[in-house]
Amino acid sequence: MREATRAVHAGLPAPGQGEPFRPGPVLAGPFHVAGEPESAAYAYGRYANPSWTAFERALAELEGGPALVFASGMAATAAVLFSTLRRGDVLVMADDAYFTARVLADAELGQRGVELRMLSTAGGELQRACLEGDALQGAALLWLETPTNPGLDVCDVAALAQAAHGAGALVAVDNSLATPLGQRPLDLGADFSVSSDTKALTGHADLVLGHVALRAPEVLEPLHTWRTRTGGVAGPFETWLAHRSLATLELRLGRQCDSAGRLAALLHARPDVEGVRYPGLPADPAHEVAARQMSRFGPVVGFALEGRARTEAFLAALEVVAEATSFGGLHSSAERRARWAGDDVVEGFVRLSVGCEDVEDLVEDIEQALDASAST
Ligand SMILES: *Cc1c(COP(=O)(O)O)cnc(C)c1O
Repeated sequence: MREATRAVHAGLPAPGQGEPFRPGPVLAGPFHVAGEPESAAYAYGRYANPSWTAFERALAELEGGPALVFASGMAATAAVLFSTLRRGDVLVMADDAYFTARVLADAELGQRGVELRMLSTAGGELQRACLEGDALQGAALLWLETPTNPGLDVCDVAALAQAAHGAGALVAVDNSLATPLGQRPLDLGADFSVSSDTKALTGHADLVLGHVALRAPEVLEPLHTWRTRTGGVAGPFETWLAHRSLATLELRLGRQCDSAGRLAALLHARPDVEGVRYPGLPADPAHEVAARQMSRFGPVVGFALEGRARTEAFLAALEVVAEATSFGGLHSSAERRARWAGDDVVEGFVRLSVGCEDVEDLVEDIEQALDASAST
């Protein structure tokens, strides 16, 4: 079955006479359970829920391994970090990975006696240190993010996973930017594919959610136990909405990635725009590795304008593209990333998330906003 078909049908029940295509959300705390609880598939809403099961089945079909839904991308991230790492373990992590993931590792795991080795995806530092140096020696977990948010740097997941496994380490890839229709980390050898489903996977800017997919089914149990014990579980209604959005993922992402490629080329050709980053751009330093491991290059383009004032004027002049954080949604958005602390970016760096609008409207909007702000 091809990807678009799989996305449309993922996680649906077999057709039943007079039944809906997809059952509604199951809003339940306790379920009826008489006698031995093992005989009931569902007993209590923190352990399992039919709306989770349906979404997790859908994710498993797209990821190529069993999946668990979490209340947010950070809940998914925390589940992998805390269920795999113990005092004295070594975590090797991309220091340009998602800001809050780094803070979580540093502030919470570091405090609890996990040793952190932070290395940059940008410039190939992490990759060199793992493949040619001894960064993986004694490591328990390698945490990658590719492409990185917001730097859009890429690392070679297959080569790194092979090296990590050789050193006895597990490998997690934060795949939020690409989604499993852009890149399948489990196929590339990763043990965990972690995602913020708040972003491109659901794409409607109407929920917060996350998931983890796993290569080895035996790793499911510790993660499931972690979720049940810590209890920050996903709401059934959000999960149901996410499953609904998943059906259009291929459709949305196809449009978004095509438009992102066109806009990246347009920005790259403008003399007043610097440092355009898009893994699909042939001139991009990440392109060669990205072309090998990604089937779509994602909805996000990075670039820089001269200074803060010009960049703020550009964002204010946009009419179709909204000024907002996050990425991957139907509605195009952009922001000056340096307004938040934590990412190593220049003052004029813009993260542009390309949505599903007609690309001609996006081209016109970005060109008029660049021209209008040129004198600033
Ligand atoms: C947003 C994001 C997260 C965190 O996800 P939430 O759903 O906001 O908790 C993790 N990783 C990446 C790459 C993200 O963009």
